[in-house]
Amino acid sequence: CGIVGIVGRKPVAPLMVDALKRLEYRGYDSAGVATIEPDGAFARRRAEGKLRNLDDKLQKSPLAGLIGIGHTRWATHGAPTESNAHPHATDKVAVVHNGIIENFRELKDELKAKGRVFASETDTEVVAHLVSQAIDEGATPEQAVAQSLKRLTGAFSLAFLFPGHPDLLIGARRGSPLAVGHGDGEMYLGSDAIALAPFTDKVTYLEEGDWVVIDRAGARIFDEHDMPVSRGMVISAASA
Ligand code: GLU
Repeated sequence: CGIVGIVGRKPVAPLMVDALKRLEYRGYDSAGVATIEPDGAFARRRAEGKLRNLDDKLQKSPLAGLIGIGHTRWATHGAPTESNAHPHATDKVAVVHNGIIENFRELKDELKAKGRVFASETDTEVVAHLVSQAIDEGATPEQAVAQSLKRLTGAFSLAFLFPGHPDLLIGARRGSPLAVGHGDGEMYLGSDAIALAPFTDKVTYLEEGDWVVIDRAGARIFDEHDMPVSRGMVISAASA
């Protein structure tokens, strides 16, 4: 229900929890974060219920990664359990998702037939496996996301993280809002400017069908036909 992504210069997990707290007004039943740790591997913490539960887990076993994605979930497919909480991950990608993937059943059948093993009951997890499958077949992360988006029907926003790419976040928007925040040597993704207000007031709103490739230096935005586009930056009035 709420999305955040940060590629920064200090550990991002506590920052992501702060941003998710600002999205609590949307409602949620579970929450989670994933980072790429200094050793290059994914790490993930997820918890049922209040953000407090996720925060407790992070206090007990902190994350050090300088890049991460986070989520508050309002379950539509699969019970509000820890194993259904986002981020969903394979060895190639982690993803958080707002909204619904309408054609997840047929995609899941197709991916299972290719030997993919699923760990949750969510519609979201098919996106992780679609992107993984494309990477395994030789695509770059950017190509894999572009190809996968074309297979999805429904209304959604998405944020992706890739192990081995500690300076890369990809976001996508179709029918559910997503904003890019511009910092100083740091960049952000969020469901709205309110989530990003503690970090920056410089915001670019993605338009319908857009997807965005982010690194610490900036963002490149593409439209639904994968053509590079420029979207204006605005100064958000949402206050920290
Ligand atoms: N459909 C997804 C799920 O049930 C995402 C729900 C949301 O927007 O939080 O996991």
